[in-house]
Amino acid sequence: MGKITGFLELDRLDRDYRPVAERLKHFKEFVEPLPPKEVQKQASRCMDCGIPYCHNGCPVNNQIPDWNDLVYKGDWQRASKNLHSTNNFPEVTGRICPAPCEASCTLNIDDKPVTIKTIECAIADKAWEEGWIVPEPPETKTGKKVAIVGSGPAGLAAAQQLARAGHDVHVYEKNAFPGGLLRYGIPDFKMEKIVIERRVKQMEAEGVTFHCNMAVGSKVKLADLEAKYHAVLLAGGAERPRDLTVSGRDLGGIHFAMNFLPQQNKRVAGEKLGKVLELTAKDRHVVVIGGGDTGSDCIGTSFRQGAASVTQLEIMPAPPEHENKELTWPHWPLKMRTSSSQAEGAMRDFAVTTKRFEGRDGRVTKLICARVDERFKEIPGSDFEIAADLVLLAMGFVAPVTDSLFPPDQIALDARGNVKANEVDYATSRPKVYTAGDMRRGQSLVVWAIREGRQAAHAIDKALMGRSDLPR
Ligand SMILES: Cc1cc2nc3c(=O)[nH]c(=O)nc-3n(C[C@H](O)[C@H](O)[C@H](O)COP(=O)(O)OP(=O)(O)OC[C@H]3O[C@@H](n4cnc5c(N)ncnc54)[C@H](O)[C@@H]3O)c2cc1C
Ligand code: SF4
Repeated sequence: MGKITGFLELDRLDRDYRPVAERLKHFKEFVEPLPPKEVQKQASRCMDCGIPYCHNGCPVNNQIPDWNDLVYKGDWQRASKNLHSTNNFPEVTGRICPAPCEASCTLNIDDKPVTIKTIECAIADKAWEEGWIVPEPPETKTGKKVAIVGSGPAGLAAAQQLARAGHDVHVYEKNAFPGGLLRYGIPDFKMEKIVIERRVKQMEAEGVTFHCNMAVGSKVKLADLEAKYHAVLLAGGAERPRDLTVSGRDLGGIHFAMNFLPQQNKRVAGEKLGKVLELTAKDRHVVVIGGGDTGSDCIGTSFRQGAASVTQLEIMPAPPEHENKELTWPHWPLKMRTSSSQAEGAMRDFAVTTKRFEGRDGRVTKLICARVDERFKEIPGSDFEIAADLVLLAMGFVAPVTDSLFPPDQIALDARGNVKANEVDYATSRPKVYTAGDMRRGQSLVVWAIREGRQAAHAIDKALMGRSDLPR
């Protein structure tokens, strides 16, 4: 383990942010890395618990105490090797994972968990800086061909694993560049896109071929892929947004978050927007409906575009400031969290429902809202108005978009409309066709998508070869 008395001697210290006034001027990352010596100190706080709950808290089961110990001892290269044995993209999770591992850290009983995510990011960033992350092409090829539909974290993780196992992997992506929500959903200020680009380069050198601007279902049919490949993995995400079908919804100025966010990411990347209604929050009074990650990304993007004000509405009641550890630890607790974007000046309101939108000359001018009780029932007489000229709907995603991919009834869906498959073989109801990530589990997190991509790769490798050395 690290330093036996480390957690007694040292306090938790985490990365800080650049000041709000400064970071709102650009779309670059604004998290200040800790100096390497401080990261080593923080790693020494790990107690190497007999039962490391963080292993289970982390969906990819990162071997956290092992790499904490290696970092404490200054062996960053072995730490990187260990970290990469469970996580294909730790520089991604080190930036944008909500870190359920830290919630389950034993030191979190005292509210001072090891800064696991920061240490993970430091290991991965150092590994890139030092040139330790290089292509790992397979020594022998299997002669098997696998197609992957979708290049989000699930598709990318599966592609890397399968290519390293010696298969000929082809990724089909409907967008112009790979990355899925890592590229087009998550703003650059949370993760700059160089992070994806260098991984894509690594994967190309490992033998993965990317076919972008290739929507499966229109430009190429699923049946064509089935004919050409030994296995097909569907990793198309969960792209159907939850709508708010109240009166006035058709007014101008009301948009889904995922019509708004990708435009800014494309602007930053210098990518053409194409034939779309160009959206901007500049000088607008913005209301974001929905309190999750997507809502926060809309807030941060709106402020950087020069919004006059940003208000975020959440239908759930305000959670408690502090969780009851005895009831929640080592699980992910429901508690009040303030994202870096919310901290940039958003007004937040809870237990609010939007009854209708009103407008003038075809454009939204206000929301008519009401307060709700714990059962989401409207409290009579609680109506109030909020002025708005841009409303962003960020209420989550209900299901994957499958109708363009395959005809109904050809592949079984579960009760929620996700593509049906279990977490052992990831096989759909159709022979040779597998599924992973948000397309299978519904809207989730990047770290779960990486886990599913890795596990699906193991399942496909085993089905093709009779056995697999890929870790699950
Ligand atoms: C705005 C936003 C912010 C988020 N922030 C965070 C965060 O901070 N941390 C976190 O952990 N999670 C976050 N999430 C959730 C996370 O991004 C997803 O859970 C994760 O990306 C899912 O990975 P995936 O590979 O399953 O799908 P996706 O990332 O959605 O990728 C699916 C890919 O498939 C492609 N595709 C779909 N259909 C086809 C087709 N027919 N043919 C070809 N290609 C197709 C899509 O274009 C896309 O590139 C966020 C989500 C959103 C929307
Ligand atoms: S991937 Fe997420 S849960 Fe796992 S160690 Fe990293 S920050 Fe923690």
